Amino acid sequence: MHIGLDVGGTKIELAVFDQDLVEVSAWREATPIDDYALFVKTIADMVAAADKQSQAEVSIGISLPGMIGQAGIKSFPNIPCLDNKTVVADLEAAIGRRIGAGNDARNLVLSEANGGAADGAKRAFGIILGTGIGGGLCINGEVYLGANKLAGEWGHMLLPAVLQQRYDLPLRQCGCGASGCIEQYFSGPGLAWLYEHFTGRQKDVPGLTDDMRNGDKDANTVFDAYIDGLATCMSQLFIYYDPDVIVLGGGLSKIPELYSRLPDAFPEVPYAGKKIPKVLPAKFGDSSGVRGAAILGQRLNA
Ligand SMILES: [Zn+2]
Repeated sequence: MHIGLDVGGTKIELAVFDQDLVEVSAWREATPIDDYALFVKTIADMVAAADKQSQAEVSIGISLPGMIGQAGIKSFPNIPCLDNKTVVADLEAAIGRRIGAGNDARNLVLSEANGGAADGAKRAFGIILGTGIGGGLCINGEVYLGANKLAGEWGHMLLPAVLQQRYDLPLRQCGCGASGCIEQYFSGPGLAWLYEHFTGRQKDVPGLTDDMRNGDKDANTVFDAYIDGLATCMSQLFIYYDPDVIVLGGGLSKIPELYSRLPDAFPEVPYAGKKIPKVLPAKFGDSSGVRGAAILGQRLNA
């Protein structure tokens, strides 16, 4: 049996998987966002309950939001108690077992490249389009992290000049400390910001997509720019990683127009005559975090 944990800004999900990675059981607890000791205790208690249910000590993997470095985690502002904490080491000490750890986007692509939408792809790139933008590269079914575990952090690629000029975009400050990261324009909040930038009015993403489908001119102008911007930024991935498949997860990945429109929106130059990667929705969707984490834990003990 294998435990996968997925830590989000409001809930911590735990799922127990069998040897074939079929989910046996799962439950959620509220994330203690301001109390680090309680955060560690909550996860340790969840694992203890899963052990009891499984009647064995099982492997553990965890999916954390943010960048996991040697010195700790640089988290999103929605779980402030995790910032700069060595959360994986502290959880291992509290539970008494090794834990495989990755961030949500890396675990998405790991899950999808092993039995998911990108199964069998030699080079799969996973993207989470949600409250932020995460990214990760899987080569032959293994996550490629790079020297500083930064490889694939695509959301913090800087906005291409062609887009900045085409849409007269100001450089927006990002939570990572830089300004002009593409997350600020093409995440869920980024799309809502684009609407305000173009129209001077506010609208949430569901309202915008409804209007777009109903033929509203402003909503279509904004969504056209969003597709163009996302495709242009994705096309930079071809230069870095030349993936066979791009898999999308996160809230915006449920917008079907992304899959019908992105392939035609990739710029032709300098890709003329090249095979454009397929863009696919994640097979395991919202379960990718726990499933990818469980694979990490499974491999730790292999
Ligand atoms: Zn950034």
